[in-house]
Amino acid sequence: MFAPEIDNLTGTIRVSALHALAYCERLFYLEEVEELYTQNPEVFAGRRLHAELEKQEGEDWEELFLESAELGLRGKVDALRERNGQVIPYEHKRGKAAQDSQNKPEAWESDRLQILAYAYLLEYSLKVTIPEGRIRYHADNVLVKVSVDDLGRHLVRDAINRANTLRNSPLRPPVTTNERLCTRCSLAPVCLPEEARLNHDREWKPIRLFPEDDDRPIIHVLEPGASVGRTGEQLKISRRDQPVEVLPVQQTGQVVLHSFSQISTQALHFCADQGIGVHFVSGGGRYVGSFDSRQGSIHRRIRQYAALTDEGLCLELSKQLVTCRGQSQRKFLMRSARNKEHPSLKDAIRQLKVMLKQVPRAHSLASLLGMEGNMAALYFGAFSHILSSDLPPELHFFGRNRRPPRDCCNALLSFGYALLLKDVMNAILTVGLEPALGFYHQPRTQAPPLALDLMEIFRVPLVDMPVVASLNRGQWSSSEDFEKRGEAVWLNDVGRKKFIKIYESRKQESWKHPITQYSLTYRRLLELEVRLLEKTWNGEGNLFAQIAVR
Ligand code: SF4
Repeated sequence: MFAPEIDNLTGTIRVSALHALAYCERLFYLEEVEELYTQNPEVFAGRRLHAELEKQEGEDWEELFLESAELGLRGKVDALRERNGQVIPYEHKRGKAAQDSQNKPEAWESDRLQILAYAYLLEYSLKVTIPEGRIRYHADNVLVKVSVDDLGRHLVRDAINRANTLRNSPLRPPVTTNERLCTRCSLAPVCLPEEARLNHDREWKPIRLFPEDDDRPIIHVLEPGASVGRTGEQLKISRRDQPVEVLPVQQTGQVVLHSFSQISTQALHFCADQGIGVHFVSGGGRYVGSFDSRQGSIHRRIRQYAALTDEGLCLELSKQLVTCRGQSQRKFLMRSARNKEHPSLKDAIRQLKVMLKQVPRAHSLASLLGMEGNMAALYFGAFSHILSSDLPPELHFFGRNRRPPRDCCNALLSFGYALLLKDVMNAILTVGLEPALGFYHQPRTQAPPLALDLMEIFRVPLVDMPVVASLNRGQWSSSEDFEKRGEAVWLNDVGRKKFIKIYESRKQESWKHPITQYSLTYRRLLELEVRLLEKTWNGEGNLFAQIAVR
C-alpha cells in the first residue's frame, strides 16, 4: 500500500465526496469546490435511514470516524462488524442494488468506490487487512459483498488523485453524458444540465429539472415597531397589538423588513443558515439593501470577475439585455393597442421595431445606452395611451419621474421597481454572484450594477404590466392608497399592502420559457435567469435574456 501525493493546502477528502466523484465529476466539483449543497427529499431520507439504524443497531453498532492525512482521506464508516475474526465495513443505502448481466444484484459503481475507500482507510488506519466490504440496499433488502483487492485499492488512489486535481482547478467539469444520472441528482436545479445540452444541440428537448415553483411565502413586515425574532427552529413576528405570528423555517422564502421594523441578531444568523433572504425597504418604498452572508466558495465570483472584465462579452450581454427589454416594451404596447386606435401608440410601436433592429449593430456600451434611452422615451411616451380613459386625472401618467415620484402612477412604478430590485438581489445572492459587478450598468448609484442589469428583463412583465392592469381595473384610489409629502407621492400603508399582494401574485403566475419550452413561475424565472447568465461565462452556451412578453 502507498499513499498518493496530496496537496496539503486542500486537506483530506471525505469518502462520501469520492462517492459523488464516481457518480459525476461535476457533482463532486459543485459540492466540494463550489460548496453547493441542496437538501432534497432523498438527502433527508438518506439521513433519516442512518439515524434510524443508529438507534436500532444497539450494541452491534460501531460507528467509526477515521482520517488519514497521508492517504488524504477521511470518513465515518456506517458500521463495522467482526466476522470470523475479520473486520468488515458496512454501508447502508436506501435504494435498490444494480443488476449485472445475469440480473444478479451488484453494487452501483459509486457505492463500490465508497465501500472500497472505507476499507482502504480502515486498512491504513488500523493496520489490518480488510477482505471485503458489504452494502445493504434497503429498498430490495439485498446485501452485496464487494471484494477488497489491489485493483480496488488502485481505484481508490486514482479517485483521490483525480479529486485533488479537480479541487485545484478553477473550471467546472462539463455535465455528464449519462443524462439518466441527472434526474436523480440533488444538484440538478443548480447545475442545469438539460439547459447545457440544449445549448449544444438546439433539437434537444429538455426536461425540467429546475423546480417550477417556490411556494414558501415571502414575509413582508410592514408595521413600524414590528420585530422578527427566533424561537427554536422558527421565526416569530411580533407586531403591536397583534398576537405573535410563528413561522416554521420551511415555510419562509424571504423576510422583507419595511420602514423601521426590526430583526434580531439570532434571527439574522438563523436566516443566513437556512438560506432565507433578508431584505430592507425604506418607509418611502426605496430598496435599502440585503443581508449578504457571503457563504459559499469564491470560485463563482472569480469566474465572474474574469468574464466581466472582457469588454466584448459585456457588450454582447448588454445587447441581449437591451433587446430583451425593448421587445417586451414593444410587445406590451402592441398587446395594449389591440383595442385602441391612437396614432402615437402605433407610431411608438413602429419606431421601437426600427430601433430594435439597430441594437445588434451597437459598437460600444455608450451607443447602446443611447439606443436604450431612446426606446425608453418612446415607450414611456406611449404609456399614457395604454391606460384606461376612465381613470381619474390624478391617477393618469404624464411622463416618468422618480427620486421621488411626483404622482400616483410613478409612485406605483417606483415601488414596483424597488420590490423587483430586492427580488433580483435575492436571486443573485442565492446563486452566489457578486452584485457589485455588472456588465451594462456602471457603478454610479448605490444600487448594485448586476442587479440593475438583470432587472431590465423583468421590468415590463413584473411591474409595468400589473401596474397598468390594476389601474385599468380601477383598483387604486388617490385618496385612500397614497400620501403626498411636499412634491413627493408615496404609497401609504394600505397602498403598499395592496401593491405587495398584486406583485406577489403576479410572480406566482406560470410562464412557458420560449427556448427551454418548460413552464415555471416568474418567481423561479428570476433565479433561472441568473443561473443562465452564469452559464454564459462557464462555457455552457447562451440562453440568457431570451424571454420577452408575448
Ligand atoms: S445534474 Fe447531472 S451533470 Fe449536473 S452534477 Fe448532477 S449528475 Fe452531474
